[in-house]
Amino acid sequence: MLRGKTALITGSTSGIGQGIAEAFAAEGCNVVLNGFGDPAEIELLRSRLAADHGVTVRYDNADMSKGDSITAMMDKAVAEFGAVDILVNNAGIQHVAPIDDFPIEKWEAVVAIDLMSSFYTIRRALQAMKARKWGRIINVASAHALVASPYKSAYVAAKHGVAGLTKTVALEVAEQGITVNAVCPGYVLTPLVEKQIPDTAKARGITEEQVVKDVLLAAQPTKQFVTVEQVASLCLFLASDDAASITGAIMPIEGGWTAH
Ligand code: NAD
Repeated sequence: MLRGKTALITGSTSGIGQGIAEAFAAEGCNVVLNGFGDPAEIELLRSRLAADHGVTVRYDNADMSKGDSITAMMDKAVAEFGAVDILVNNAGIQHVAPIDDFPIEKWEAVVAIDLMSSFYTIRRALQAMKARKWGRIINVASAHALVASPYKSAYVAAKHGVAGLTKTVALEVAEQGITVNAVCPGYVLTPLVEKQIPDTAKARGITEEQVVKDVLLAAQPTKQFVTVEQVASLCLFLASDDAASITGAIMPIEGGWTAH
């Protein structure tokens, strides 16, 4: 029963995170949105979710590359709602380049946003979760938490790190009603993937059409993109009481990509 709980989803102004926020609002959760984008569009999203589902929806513009900013967002949410019952660490960026041509600042940004940010959110969320003896932490990792792809060294390293962080924290809080899991999507057609198509074409010396067919769809035995709705449904299930015995799981949702 998720009604009345508070869900904070980082990076929820676009793509997968937005879908997860919509799904939790539809279940009656109060929602904290976060991420960048056009302020008018974000306000439209915030007010639509609140009006459609009769829940409180706040927006916080915290920068997931900055520890202080993340900590302030978490403290504000806990002060307003009493706890962040469901924490979804979803914010992420990607950069595609050969390792010897990978700009250092891009490597640092990917690791900060895709990995370090979860350290800051989790440590701040835990105290109130422990007091309530209930909590759900869901880290949106990637199939790249399980397998590598060339030219994505920062992303693959960060997402493998998320898997390690997930398992470790799961063990630390297992007796306290708090579960910690990672979901590992294959390719979902969001702005993050759309942006990487030209860079992948350049790095591999192939056309953008070949990237879609021979790199993205070819990775997944189903030959289908994963959808935002499928990932959001998995997150809802992991937040439910039926999933109380699932913790420390690194859960693929990638059309069979990592099966072989
Ligand atoms: P997206 O680009 O559509 O959304 C990313 C979100 O993160 C946006 O809301 C953006 O504003 C936010 N964000 C980026 N940098 C931020 C920062 N510094 N501070 C705050 N917010 C920031 O991408 P998406 O595909 O929806 O990706 C969401 C998550 O899913 C990421 O962690 C990504 O690695 C993961 N993922 C995506 C795919 C895919 O194929 N799209 C596959 C596996 C995993």
